[in-house]
Parts: sequence; structure tokens; C-alpha cells
Amino acid sequence: MAFIYIKPELKQNMERLSDILNIPEPLLISANANAPADEFYFPGASFQAGKNVPAAETYEQLQILVNQYTLEDEQWLTKTVVYDSAELKKEIDRLTECFPFVTSRIIGRSSMGQPIYELLLGAENAGKRTHINASFHANEWITTSVLMKWLKEYCYHLCTGRSALGFSPLDIFSSTKLSVVPIVNPDGVDLVLNGPGHLGIAREALDELNEHQRDFREWKANINGVDLNNQFPSFWEIEKQRKPPKSPSYRDYPGDEPLTEPEAAAMRDLIANEPPDRLVALHTQGEEIYWGYKGLEPPESADVIQTFERLSGYKGVRYIDSYAGFRDWFIHYFGREGYTVELGKGKNPLPLKQFDDIYCKSRGILWASCFFES
Ligand SMILES: [Zn+2]
Repeated sequence: MAFIYIKPELKQNMERLSDILNIPEPLLISANANAPADEFYFPGASFQAGKNVPAAETYEQLQILVNQYTLEDEQWLTKTVVYDSAELKKEIDRLTECFPFVTSRIIGRSSMGQPIYELLLGAENAGKRTHINASFHANEWITTSVLMKWLKEYCYHLCTGRSALGFSPLDIFSSTKLSVVPIVNPDGVDLVLNGPGHLGIAREALDELNEHQRDFREWKANINGVDLNNQFPSFWEIEKQRKPPKSPSYRDYPGDEPLTEPEAAAMRDLIANEPPDRLVALHTQGEEIYWGYKGLEPPESADVIQTFERLSGYKGVRYIDSYAGFRDWFIHYFGREGYTVELGKGKNPLPLKQFDDIYCKSRGILWASCFFES
């Protein structure tokens, strides 16, 4: 439980509550934006399950309660987790409870009807918007581990007020609304991580799409055998024509038409409804960052890529011979900043033993993604 009952009048003075709790006021305002009048949410805390929800009638009583709550344990915050869709759901529940300034919503459903989640945070009046996503490609599930670990780092730093790599978390929260889609392709990720047994799909059909390989570790597509990052209407015909698979496959098939797949359509809708100022898509591998697209990218991208390079040691690459990707489409239609970050090096799926190295190099990119020069 991350809330207590409170006399509604006490919430009139958020500044005083902020002092008592030692939690920045913008976080409290955001965490309580939709709270009922007599409930008060405070981030970073969780009361032990099973206990009655505590109540405070006065600021003094609140002060006493504050001394009883347990700060979230570092172990959970810093743990490296491999996320299939069930594990992600659990994590989202815990994250939104512990840090109630984070909200989640379902932006669409996968081919198999699984929810595709978006997490949102940032002050109400924040003027900039960043979107980051992971696991477009099933065998690149390690990107979700990176993104979620960083998100927890961001939330925790917000509560403690500690800066990270020179970035002020609270300044970022106050100026930038962040949208995160941790798994774009939940069916594919579940197939790679858990195998086909639990999916309720005829094994023979999947085996055929998988070209009868021994296991499904290299599966990159969605469950229909369509590459979600080849589904976007930006010179899609070129990819359709030149990609080797001419029918659904475990990798690289662009689909019969653009946006036939519900996961790709959900991402298109999300972005088209409210285009962010900056978009970052996490993929593996190559330790490169693609930042241009046919000269349609804005001039800021050339500056931002230098920051990304400096913080990560990854190499910025302006143009690659690729079309119909999510980022390609975004830059093509909106003319805004878009980056594809290729984490790690080796053969997909990258092994978890690379995680610490990848995280160490890429967390700066994630912090910088939410920071805009004013
Ligand atoms: Zn990829």
C-alpha cells in the first residue's frame, strides 16, 4: 500500500507535506493528481501488506506515520530482471504502487490479445515530450531489462533528489513528459523466453515459420511472423521488394501491407496522437546509434548525438540503408528527433552476462534522452 487516509484539508498545503515527507513537491502533486480527497499517496514508500491503511488527521500524526514507512529496498530497485510479459506486468504493478507519480495504461493489444503497456511520468505542465521503447524485436528482450532498470533508477533518484551523471532528475521531471513502452512485442518475447509450449498455437505452424530451427531463441518477428520494425509506411515497398522472406518468417518479413500487425498499429496511433519531441528505440546490437533519415531529421539531432556518443562510447551513424522502420516513419512524417540505439555487441539474443556492460554504457543515453537544452 502506498497511500494513507488523510484529512483532506491537509492536502491543501503540499509544501508542508513535502517538508514532512522529504519528498519533492512536484512528485507529490503528480502522485496525487487523481487521488480521492481522503487518500494521500507518497512515493518511495510501501506499507506492509495486510496491515490496515493508516490514517492521519493532523500534520503531527503524519510525521509519526512517516517514521514507520519502509523505503523501497535497494535490492529490488537495482536488480537485473529478464521480463516476459507476466514479469513485466508484476513489475509495472509494483512500480506504479511504489512510485505513484508513474501511471500505466494499455495502448493496444498484441496479436494474441496481450496488453501493450505504456508507462508515463512527468509534471503536468512539462513542456517537452520524450518517448522510449524496447523489444520491438523478440530476440532483443535485453532492451526491456535495460529500460526498466533505468526507469527504476530515475524514480528512485527523483525521490532521493540525487543527481545522476550530472542530470537533475527533478529538473527532468519538471520539464519533460516521458512515455515508455517497455515491450512492444509481448507475444514474440514470450516465445523466445519461454518457448512455444504455453502459447496454444499449433507447434507445426510455428516450426515452419522458424525454418525448423532447434529452438526459438533467434525469433525476431511478432507471433504472425512479421517484423514489426519493417511495418511502417515510409518507403515500405522498397523493403517489401528486397527483403528475402516473401511470406511470414521468424525474421525480416515486412508483412503483406504496412501496419497490418496490431502491435505496429498501436505504436503508430500512440505516436501520431501526440508526437513526442524526441523518440528513442532500443535495439541490439552493434553499439551504434542511428540518428538521421534522408536529411529529414531536425538540426538538433546532430548536437544530441554528440552527447549520446560521449556518454555511451557508442558510435553515431547518420544514414543506414533501411526503410519502413518505426523511427524512419517518425522522422519522415514529423521531422523530429529519432534515434535507434543498438545496444551491445555479439549475436542476438545477447546473453545476460553482457548486461552490466550494456547498462553502464547506455544509461547515460537514457538520462540524456529526457534532457533538452533550453
Ligand atoms: Zn532490432
